[in-house]
Amino acid sequence: MSERPRSRRPAEVAPEEWSDWSWQMRHRIRDAAGLGAWIDPSDDERRAIDALGDRFRFVITPYYASLMDPEDPACPVRRQVVPRLAELDDAAGLADPLDEVAHSPVKNIVRVYPDRIAFCVNNECALYCRYCLRKRMVGEPEWAMKKRELQAGIDWVRETPEIRDVLLTGGDPLIFNDERLGWLLESLRSIPHVEILRLGTRLPVTLPFRVTPALCDLLSSFHPLWVNTHFNHPKELSEEAAAACDRLTRAGIPVGNQSVLLRGVNDDERVMKTLCEGLVRMRVRPYYVYQAQLLEGTGHFRVPIERGVEIFRALRGRTSGFAIPTYVLDTPYGKVPLSHPYLKGREGDDVVVEAYDGRLWREPNPLDPPEPAS
Ligand code: SF4
Repeated sequence: MSERPRSRRPAEVAPEEWSDWSWQMRHRIRDAAGLGAWIDPSDDERRAIDALGDRFRFVITPYYASLMDPEDPACPVRRQVVPRLAELDDAAGLADPLDEVAHSPVKNIVRVYPDRIAFCVNNECALYCRYCLRKRMVGEPEWAMKKRELQAGIDWVRETPEIRDVLLTGGDPLIFNDERLGWLLESLRSIPHVEILRLGTRLPVTLPFRVTPALCDLLSSFHPLWVNTHFNHPKELSEEAAAACDRLTRAGIPVGNQSVLLRGVNDDERVMKTLCEGLVRMRVRPYYVYQAQLLEGTGHFRVPIERGVEIFRALRGRTSGFAIPTYVLDTPYGKVPLSHPYLKGREGDDVVVEAYDGRLWREPNPLDPPEPAS
């Protein structure tokens, strides 16, 4: 079992400051000079930071910056958060590829399925991922949610009895302080038809110190409550991130992981296997891996779907079944699972299936099984 990485705390920062999430938020990196304390930004990166500032915010927590390998210009942590000029060169990318605006009955609620919604409760994150699906709104002031706008969303859920599952997302709902988050969860929990509350948060990855014991106590008072987080690479599975996930699971919160398949980050069978097995050791269930969307400024991240299918086919039979996430393409009509076709077809009263190693198996499976004799 490989050792987990640890964040690199600068000698001049006291341990209690480093592990204080509000210290981390106050000391976030916002320009090339700040980034220079952690890595030597390339000319392309420096120019991209300046050129892209008005398109999508550049912000990184010191914790996450410390996971970057300063010796590796292709570091997969760096690639996720440091702008590159390639973002200016993506003729195919769209601002809202899932047509979320058209699926929004009230501000920041996205309803694609009859019984569940994504409620984008804020527009802030601890850092900004260059491939973010919601880059049209995260960090943009007009998408911030005032309390009365959150209340309008809660009222809509209360008046819509089909909704049994509410995902709080954003931005990142854990950017709220405990008081605001508690009010929001309590308001939703008081709605009788809301069975499940879910939080979609990347803070266990980008700012694990936010997952305090007090936060876990608060969340555990609203069960059944699930958390989905977003690790993309084994380098992110640090001691601190593992401790944050451990605090959540000990509070009785099932934790799942949703990655995005990203070129140069995790588009490799061995990297994906190491990531998924590392998550399972942290008691985090690999849940989904998303195909990167046709999103503006992200052409350099996209991987052909056929290649994605190969990566997950390579995992089948070679690790625990529950360590293999479902590879999906999100569409305006909902998520579509993408998989190698293991069911080859019917031949008479048999179906032919393909095992993980390519061997074919013929399984008797009559269309009209005979009635048992009485
Ligand atoms: S944490 Fe999530 S919502 Fe925030 S920028 Fe990254 S991908 Fe987007």
